Amino acid sequence: MNYNLLDEKWIPVLYRNGKYDRVGIFQALTDAHRIRQIAASNPMDRVAIFRFLLALLYWCKGNPPDYVSAYAEKSFPDDWFTKLDENRDCFNLFGDGKRFYQYQAKTGEPDKLTANYLMQEIPTGSNWYHFCHSKDKDNGLCPACCAKGLLRLPSFATSGGRGKPPGINSKPPIYIIPLGSCLFESLLLSWQDQKQNDFGEPAWVKPDIQLPAKGKVALLTGLTWLPRRVWLDTPKTDEENCIACGVKAKLIKQSVFAGIGSTKAESVDERRNWDDPHVIYDNKNVLKPNDSLKAYDAASGRWTKLVIGALIQKNAISPHRFIAVSFATVQNDKYIEAKKCEVSFNVNTDSFNPQKAIEKIDYWSKENSKLISRCKPKKSSRKHAEIRPMIDSVRPHIETQVFDKIHALLTGEPEAWEQVAGDYSPMMSVVAQSLAPGYTTVEVQRRREIAAVKPNMKPKIIATDRAGRKKGADA
Ligand SMILES: [Zn+2]
Repeated sequence: MNYNLLDEKWIPVLYRNGKYDRVGIFQALTDAHRIRQIAASNPMDRVAIFRFLLALLYWCKGNPPDYVSAYAEKSFPDDWFTKLDENRDCFNLFGDGKRFYQYQAKTGEPDKLTANYLMQEIPTGSNWYHFCHSKDKDNGLCPACCAKGLLRLPSFATSGGRGKPPGINSKPPIYIIPLGSCLFESLLLSWQDQKQNDFGEPAWVKPDIQLPAKGKVALLTGLTWLPRRVWLDTPKTDEENCIACGVKAKLIKQSVFAGIGSTKAESVDERRNWDDPHVIYDNKNVLKPNDSLKAYDAASGRWTKLVIGALIQKNAISPHRFIAVSFATVQNDKYIEAKKCEVSFNVNTDSFNPQKAIEKIDYWSKENSKLISRCKPKKSSRKHAEIRPMIDSVRPHIETQVFDKIHALLTGEPEAWEQVAGDYSPMMSVVAQSLAPGYTTVEVQRRREIAAVKPNMKPKIIATDRAGRKKGADA
């Protein structure tokens, strides 16, 4: 069976006129100005396919030509991609010759596993208590889903035990993809001049390419490096429904899905140097998703880190519109969670002061962390362990409301913050009834105090906070 990713229709896209289609690589690139976005149902595919198309751009054209940054062309000309045609064999999904993102072991052959390992949301092995029921060797993936699964490996592979390392960013980070009005504009926003011309070799040219033990990782190698050695089985002859997308096709039911051995850098001092274009670095630390199993309100304050991260991005672009996608898992897939949120704050770059915006968001987080202590009765020596779960149960709701208003908060009057702090009031009056249910004067008084608890976002206080207040004093 021949399945070449340049022409076969496997990338799900939404056109600007509302039409949904699946397209090949050629069409995705040459139609990029007509395509609104990659329209995969799993946000991980949106990121993985986008990063792949970006890597193809670098491979075919190198750094962006000057005039492109001025949006002069309005589309990618067909003749930019002749290199793809010349290297057609790199994009074959099956066959005995060269294969896309796959290679075979030099000696011996490990057991085949179900092909469903390529899609994290499809259960495998004995993981059968799921909403989606799947049986190894009976259910399988269509060629399009196999291609998407292979593309997920560089960005989203997690550690799979001995010899099965995670992707280049270790535990998958939060990926930030800047968005334009169409795929063409979105790609341009990420296609930045790298100030050098050595992009390294991508994995479609050399699927078994390894990361250097130390030193700088070249861009194309880093974007496409494969932490697993995959070899897909030949598709079955009868058509069945794909377990991932439901399309009727000749399915791939098994595949080699092997580790590649240790990839640890030589020593701590000589770490590999990889600068990912789509992650947020804060003093060399990479922003990663929280473990949602460990805290009720783990997701509540997440937006603050995302927005601050976007504001300090070295390639901060305007308008600020991006998707943030994360994938988290703990204890060998005890839980898996893929999350996407779209953030948009259309700021005027001349008058907008990112530093001030960051200070306000920081202040909001600080004030939120004080809510529990403010609910405690004065002069009480007890710990009051009952307060935290109460606050944890209302915070996610409030933070979602605040996040929805992010555009107004960043660009509007300072009073906007005071108004969103007021969103706590209806919630806190209910919390007060639970925490102080009695009828004595003391209880009634305490109920009033708890109902009034909220982040203190008075504009004057935010402005003088850094200079004036003593550590630990009440706000
Ligand atoms: Zn499928």
